[in-house]
Amino acid sequence: MSYVITQACVQVCPVDAISGQPGADRKFYIDPDTCVECGSCKAVCPNSAIYPGTQLPADQRDFAWIDAAWYRDPVVAREVLVEVLNAPLEVSQ
Ligand code: SF4
Repeated sequence: MSYVITQACVQVCPVDAISGQPGADRKFYIDPDTCVECGSCKAVCPNSAIYPGTQLPADQRDFAWIDAAWYRDPVVAREVLVEVLNAPLEVSQ
């Protein structure tokens, strides 16, 4: 059986800052203009996939732009997400 993503993070958010359209989106998005930085979603994420914006790993920084963009233009955000997910990983030396 595959892994299953739940909506735990969506349910704990006190300001409804987490959204995504089932069937159209490959991830959830956090609205940076609504998020109050309480950390509740990070605490329940089983994949450790949520970071404070100031602590994003270098190879994950595109996701901050993608999340913010989704609230302005979901189509563009989805296109950029596909590009980022398909980009070859940079190998540090
Ligand atoms: Fe919502 Fe932001 Fe708190 Fe996460 S950190 S639960 S997105 S308000």
